[in-house]
Amino acid sequence: MRYSQYLLPTLKEVPADAEVISHQLMLRAGMIRKVAAGIYNYMPLGLRSIRKMEQIIREEMNRAGAVECLMPMANPAELWQESGRWEKYGKELLRFKDRKDADFCMGPTHEEVVTDIVRNTVRSYRQLPLNLYQIQTKFRDEIRPRFGLMRGREFIMKDAYSFDLDDAGADISYQKMYQAYRNIFQRCGLRFRAVEADSGAIGGSFSHEFMVLAESGEDAIVSCDSCEYAANVEKAEVLWTEQEAVAPEQELQLVETPQQKTIQEVAAFLDLPAARLVKTLILQTSAEEVVAVLLRGDRELNTIKLANLLDVDWVLPAEEEVVRHVTGAPIGFAGPIGLDARLIADNEVRTMSGYVVGGNAVDRHYVGVCHPRDLVIDQFADLRRAEQGDPCPRCKNGRFESWRGIEVGHVFKLGTKYSETMAATVLDDQGQSRSLVMGCYGIGVGRTVAAAIEQNHDEHGLKLPLPLAPFQVLVVMLNPKDAQVRQASEDIYAQLLEAGVEVLLDDRDERPGIKFKDADLVGIPLRITVGARGLQDGTVELKIRTSGEQSALPLAEIVPALC
Ligand code: ATP
Ligand code: MG
Ligand code: MG
Ligand code: MG
Repeated sequence: MRYSQYLLPTLKEVPADAEVISHQLMLRAGMIRKVAAGIYNYMPLGLRSIRKMEQIIREEMNRAGAVECLMPMANPAELWQESGRWEKYGKELLRFKDRKDADFCMGPTHEEVVTDIVRNTVRSYRQLPLNLYQIQTKFRDEIRPRFGLMRGREFIMKDAYSFDLDDAGADISYQKMYQAYRNIFQRCGLRFRAVEADSGAIGGSFSHEFMVLAESGEDAIVSCDSCEYAANVEKAEVLWTEQEAVAPEQELQLVETPQQKTIQEVAAFLDLPAARLVKTLILQTSAEEVVAVLLRGDRELNTIKLANLLDVDWVLPAEEEVVRHVTGAPIGFAGPIGLDARLIADNEVRTMSGYVVGGNAVDRHYVGVCHPRDLVIDQFADLRRAEQGDPCPRCKNGRFESWRGIEVGHVFKLGTKYSETMAATVLDDQGQSRSLVMGCYGIGVGRTVAAAIEQNHDEHGLKLPLPLAPFQVLVVMLNPKDAQVRQASEDIYAQLLEAGVEVLLDDRDERPGIKFKDADLVGIPLRITVGARGLQDGTVELKIRTSGEQSALPLAEIVPALC
């Protein structure tokens, strides 16, 4: 590919509305462009990385015996009514009508459609086990799309669904997917943990989330340093509190107060040390949320600065700094205790569960604690325990480490939830009709690429690992007007192409400074620079983006060195 004929619109400045580094860099490196909230164009360079990710997924899914298909984005309401989710799913499900006034939705996940395929085509246990997967565009009308591809409304997901005759078979299918997921994320060069997860709205009996470790992650996770136990904090707390029942949607109780509460007053109300409250609020919510709510109007202190400020090592002055901003802020704060993070915005207060909130709505000031209040207090206590690494609840002797994670994949054992409601049965070897035992398995394709960027970048730009890099080699033709430079660059380019290397030739008529800046920003793993000075000695320069290592190699040796 020739840069001069490619579409690679790099940006010098950090776009104002991009908070996390992957979002900033994907915009700056010309990988994505926004169309609407949570809806993006995949530009040529971004699409290459997306396709690489898809290919890794495809290879590992095929290796695990899964079979690829493709289901529609537009789903008829009937299927969703049959499963009961047409009513239950809420506003994330984007519903619409066709010209005949029939109800449809954009598929946010495909249990209904795949169950319909299988009940119409699979009759006998001999056709099992079966695992159908697709790599397809999903639509979820997320309440707050953000962080670029990380939480989009339209996004690419790999979703797979396994069908077995019995529970034991379903467990084997689950294990196969679990292993395939490990392989996939390992091949991407990611640092990740597979953690026990709550199966949430999809419902089911067994579930793991694959979490890429990154400070910008929305999930809090803990792992034991002695046994294999790792969980998201939500699940770990359930274990700690011995399955204490959590009512899903509790009304928020607001206590009206004459003026905005200070963090100390809220802390006193909750019976907690103020520093702990601040820390928990920050830990439990993303920095972006804290900034958006706590510091609305203060454009000086952005997410990154706040994160840095707090990441130092939680020294008291940093906490005091936050307290100062909190108390001086025109609006209060919302701290999620598990579950999804939502906000109180302006004069709107939502019904939430598991939240401590405070703030001012128009001119009414309040502080509120959701019920059950004891549970909230318990969860603070649990977090405290997790941080001090109290003994692991599983092995009783290991200590906990806490991390922030980005959920890139999720495996569920669904059981017969869908097969029973939608009558998906097969005949067993006795001729008896049995409900299929299902599992479902998702990977966010774009989110994984974004998570890889969170882990692999520096102040100059991307350092994507080779398996996800859009190109393997960049050839920088330093002065295209110099005939010798042009010829040598063209030769290297042609030979690399011939050898099957994915190569981008920077043949633009631009200054070297611009070319080097773009090269670092786009971060192609290997850079060959062809310049007049080097050619005088018969050499070109090879630079490895990740390590920054540079070396001069004889012109004749460069292609063999890379192939
Ligand atoms: P989250 O907790 O982040 O909202 P989820 O649990 O709702 O995700 P799943 O239903 O488990 O998501 O979907 C499977 C995978 O799809 C997730 O693990 C994630 O990688 C990806 N995914 C989910 N929602 C989004 C989104 N809005 N944008 C990009 N990827 C997403
Ligand atoms: Mg979700
Ligand atoms: Mg989730
Ligand atoms: Mg999930």
